[in-house]
Amino acid sequence: QHNFPKIFNNFTRTNNAKQDKASEPAPYTVVQSFAARLRYNQSKTEIPIVLNDLIHTTRQGYPAVLLDEHDYYVKLAECCKYTLVGKFINTMPKMELPIVLIWVVVLGLPWHCYNKVLSTTILESVGKVLYLDSPTSQRTRGSTTRVKVQVDLTNKSPEHVWLGFKNSDPNKGRWLKVQYEGIPDYCMYCKHQGHMDYDCTIKRRDEDVNRRKEMESEKKTSQKEINDKVEMK
Ligand SMILES: [Zn+2]
Repeated sequence: QHNFPKIFNNFTRTNNAKQDKASEPAPYTVVQSFAARLRYNQSKTEIPIVLNDLIHTTRQGYPAVLLDEHDYYVKLAECCKYTLVGKFINTMPKMELPIVLIWVVVLGLPWHCYNKVLSTTILESVGKVLYLDSPTSQRTRGSTTRVKVQVDLTNKSPEHVWLGFKNSDPNKGRWLKVQYEGIPDYCMYCKHQGHMDYDCTIKRRDEDVNRRKEMESEKKTSQKEINDKVEMK
């Protein structure tokens, strides 16, 4: 239990030549704890930034986030410090809940915006941002932010989010493209993952039953009308 592989950041590695060797991959059973430790260390070293009041609104039917310009150009760029070493390997048990953890990719963000606080606010309408992937935190990949997000499948997942500025030219800003990696289908009818409502066999069966019931009650009413007419005579 206490033999967690120690995680070194780049600073300790350059000071200790022995630790520079590529380490053996962690055994499977350790991987989950390894990733948990990595995330814990990442959250510890991440400098929390406080963004000035944001405005969440919509633009052309898509969610829009309006930031303080100073936050965007200065504050976010100031805290590009921490480095993350390692890989995340995550397995999720198959659940029939509408809540899943998926990778969400935001295209079009400049590198100084690869930040959890900003990603959280940009993806507010999508779900809860848990952590950034390694290339995003290390800024080794251009113009793509990839974050793990807890998504509610019953919500609509927007394909674009507008990022603009408060008290500024309303057309100053940019559309960010949002992509969802492997987002599962979710049936709102039977509350199961793997298919959509229009492919639901349970829904089709229930509709058949209802149709038969309707037809029977229609038959009864028309029979009753005939009987009533006969009585009138
Ligand atoms: Zn279904």
